[in-house]
Amino acid sequence: MANSPDPEELAAAIRTGRRAALSRAITLAESTRADHRALAASVLDRLAPLPQGTIRIGISGVPGAGKSTLIDALGSMLTEQGHKVAVLAVDPSSVRSGGSILGDKTRMHRLASDANAFVRPSPSSGTLGGVAAKTRETMLLCEAAGFDVVIVETMGVGQAEVAVAGMVDLVVLLMIAGGGDELQGIKKGILEIADIVALNKADGEDRPRAERAASELRSALNILSPPSPDWRVPVLTVSGATGAGLDALWETVLRHRAVHQANGAWQARRAGQRIGWLKASLDEALRRRVLSGKQARAALAEAEAAVGTGSRAPTAVAEEILDRLGLPGEPT
Ligand code: GDP
Repeated sequence: MANSPDPEELAAAIRTGRRAALSRAITLAESTRADHRALAASVLDRLAPLPQGTIRIGISGVPGAGKSTLIDALGSMLTEQGHKVAVLAVDPSSVRSGGSILGDKTRMHRLASDANAFVRPSPSSGTLGGVAAKTRETMLLCEAAGFDVVIVETMGVGQAEVAVAGMVDLVVLLMIAGGGDELQGIKKGILEIADIVALNKADGEDRPRAERAASELRSALNILSPPSPDWRVPVLTVSGATGAGLDALWETVLRHRAVHQANGAWQARRAGQRIGWLKASLDEALRRRVLSGKQARAALAEAEAAVGTGSRAPTAVAEEILDRLGLPGEPT
């Protein structure tokens, strides 16, 4: 990126749906350079308020659950219906390996060549929090560029699910029959963030197994408290490979939206997410501004030496560092 683009021009180009402008802004948001990220933030600010009527879906499932096959099929069905679909990913493993497994174009052949789809792999550097923040900004840029359905793919394990649940309107959990998966899901608490469960690969000889697993899951879910008083988590059977059940899955997504828009939970969730991101951004900005200076780094290095040997207690030393930097104490 030789010369810095003008944020106003970039915002205007994104609004007209120009893919090159969208990609450029995403690259800025994903950059490790602070000036690039500030530019992306300024572009996003110019793009507010974003178009209404968008839907953000998290799709989660262990590797091999069939996520890419299903997203390719569901996304293609939606673009045929006139939607514009963006597929993004939060992949914590790419943070370690530096390569992204999820949201890869080669895994979604149809969407990769679909003019009304945009597939972007997971950002591959930084902490999980950093990856999630970049994905969220990418999601908003895509919406500004006219994508009305955003799918955020994630791997069905641990903290990444929680991070994704914090940026989407609903989470679809993809499961497969067998191997005691149904109950494992409950143990891991993943089911607790699912708004819809879909038993995938319900095709061919495996179909009865998937149906059986779905009905076991329905009974298991009966003993968990529902995510909201107006919504019992539906358990569907689908096949990304044949497309069976995908229309019912989409109808269920729309029903989830209708129910939660009627009771206000949809709007409240988005408002809560925006405020949550404001607080996270403020924490991050404070840390950067306060702790990245020369004096702070020197004080920290000195304190680390003392705390590392165990000769001082970390909590007291942390307060001392802030005192030394001349920051006011907590209000009483
Ligand atoms: P991901 O790791 O969750 O993205 O899973 P993939 O979509 O890459 O699929 C993993 C494997 O399951 C591949 O060998 C697919 O061909 C197969 N698979 C995916 N979806 C289906 C399905 O609906 N039915 C059947 N029978 N196989 C599927």
